[in-house]
Amino acid sequence: MSDKPERFIDDEGLRLDGRRVDEIRPMKVEMGVLSRADGSCYLEWGNNKVLAAVYGPRELHPRRMQKPNEVLVRYKYNMASFSVEDRIRPGPSRRSTEISKVSGEAFEPVVMTQYYPGAVIDVFAEVLQADAGTRTAAINAATLALADAGIPMKGLVSACAVGKVDGQLVLDLNKPEDNYGQADLPVAMTQDGEITLLQMDGHLTPEELEEGLEMVKKGCQQILEIQREALVSRYGNEDEEGEEAEEESPEEVPEPEEEEDEERDNSFDNEESEAENSDENDVTEEDEGEEDERQ
Ligand code: ADP
Repeated sequence: MSDKPERFIDDEGLRLDGRRVDEIRPMKVEMGVLSRADGSCYLEWGNNKVLAAVYGPRELHPRRMQKPNEVLVRYKYNMASFSVEDRIRPGPSRRSTEISKVSGEAFEPVVMTQYYPGAVIDVFAEVLQADAGTRTAAINAATLALADAGIPMKGLVSACAVGKVDGQLVLDLNKPEDNYGQADLPVAMTQDGEITLLQMDGHLTPEELEEGLEMVKKGCQQILEIQREALVSRYGNEDEEGEEAEEESPEEVPEPEEEEDEERDNSFDNEESEAENSDENDVTEEDEGEEDERQ
């Protein structure tokens, strides 16, 4: 582990990675990266790299676990053993079990569970590279993977942390800030601002908590914009595209694929096939393994 820096915020108000206290790290997303999943999303946020895959709705086995009037949403967060400097022991840990539970609950107010009684929707969030803020990164990816799978939702969920270093509130903690800071407060919220996850490590005064929640709300709004852009890139806005296509070239209607490519600016076009080849099998095999165990 690196040594504790003397200061986290310099005289100019800049943090160790050059951000201001209210800035989030750069985020890039690409949806639909796994062909075997019903929905998927790859997300990079600073040095975090996360892959989310959604399977379902599908029949739930064993049947005794089925909910008669709604679909069961299962969320599994996992950090790959190679995702941090020191290898992480594979398999569930207390930390990953807790994060899976609270992250799954963060989607309860938005997923319209009444549509698939007795079925299950499995959400897998795999952290490939961790650099603080992985649970929030995973939630941001998972909400797009759910949308990609066509799961009816009342809205998107966006997540971000706020914390305290050098006695000041800072948005979206990086690794040294997370390790040595005085507080870390990950939050997830719906697009209407309803908080669906709130955890806290460390200490904040009631005033700091209030101010921190305002900061995190703004961070989540920025993330929501990135998520919306990703959705438009993938699925387009039919009305606008139709109008634009007609105005620009009335005789030549572009192929849908080409239109989609042009729209993508948050994408990882070069890495897409690599991500498909290397990651989808892991998620699917693990998932099938679980199915086998249950049967
Ligand atoms: P989050 O990633 O949601 O901020 P934590 O605050 O628990 O969750 O962890 C902060 C960071 O510490 C992680 O993003 C990761 O970089 C690192 N970390 C967490 N667990 C481990 C672990 N078992 N071994 C090494 N590093 C870890």
